[in-house]
Formats: sequence, C-alpha cells, structure tokens
Amino acid sequence: MKMKNNDIRICTSCHFLFKGNPNYGCCPDCGKPTIRDADDKEMAECWYFRKIFAEAKPA
Ligand SMILES: [Zn+2]
Repeated sequence: MKMKNNDIRICTSCHFLFKGNPNYGCCPDCGKPTIRDADDKEMAECWYFRKIFAEAKPA
C-alpha cells in the first residue's frame, strides 16, 4: 500500500469518488470492487463536484 498525502479513491465502474477507508473493499455507491486510488485530476474533480463521502474539507 503506497503512502500518499490523501486517500481519495475512485470507483471505475460508476466513478463515485470517496474518501478512502480501509474498511471499504468495494464501492460504497454501487458495491462493485472496482476501486483504486484517484489521481490528481480525479481528485480535483472530486472537489469540484463535491461528490465525496466523508468529512474531507475542500481547501
Ligand atoms: Zn461504484
């Protein structure tokens, strides 16, 4: 598991973005296990759309 200064994940199935939680083995939205770390661009979109699931606060 690589260390990053964020823990935003993305579901590649439904593109739901959420704050990473080790308890999530699958997407909290669609339930599929198709999740991976979001890249910088996706994280920017995450803040833009506010499609985020935890108490991450936008800068
Ligand atoms: Zn999903």
